Amino acid sequence: MDDSFDEDCDYLFKAVLIGDSAVGKSNLLSRFAKNEFRLDSKPTIGVEFAYRNIKVGDKLIKAQIWDTAGQERFRAITSSYYRGALGALLVYDITRQNTFENVKKWLAELRQFGKPDMVVVLVGNKSDLGQKSREVSEEEGRNVAEKEGLCFMETSALENLNVEDAFLHMITKIHEITTQKSL
Ligand code: GDP
Repeated sequence: MDDSFDEDCDYLFKAVLIGDSAVGKSNLLSRFAKNEFRLDSKPTIGVEFAYRNIKVGDKLIKAQIWDTAGQERFRAITSSYYRGALGALLVYDITRQNTFENVKKWLAELRQFGKPDMVVVLVGNKSDLGQKSREVSEEEGRNVAEKEGLCFMETSALENLNVEDAFLHMITKIHEITTQKSL
């Protein structure tokens, strides 16, 4: 798929991050890939991706996670972004209601361009701000996820809460689906 493909891994999965601007997508990714939180704004516009190797049972999975890196601001995400993706983290910000309302729009796009059996985790990020600035309740998030058949999790990239779980949940599910298919 590209130069950093590791011959030793059993599977290479592509997954994408989607959601409105400034919901925390790139910080979730840097937490997961490098355990870093970035306070600076993104220097460049364009697609970025990161890899992480994960062991599921006795299999080594290389997860390649794509980040929009600001393109969503210009509605410039194209079908190539979704091509081949087996999973998605659809992120909103629990302190901004409009980012939650836009989840529907992102889902429509996912369903238009993505694979039908894509594993989608709905992620309500910035849970560390929940006490004082919450605009979307955990229940509202869970209800939408249930209705749409998605997994659900609240995370904080800042405090590193549930970030690992959200990615691992998606990757484990993708692995399950892929191995079932190849049986
Ligand atoms: P993106 O545009 O969706 O990739 O969002 P970024 O990752 O660039 O984050 C947007 C802003 O939200 C930045 O100022 C981050 O520092 C902040 N941010 C991201 N995640 C969190 C979080 O979990 N908690 C808090 N309090 N701020 C966050």
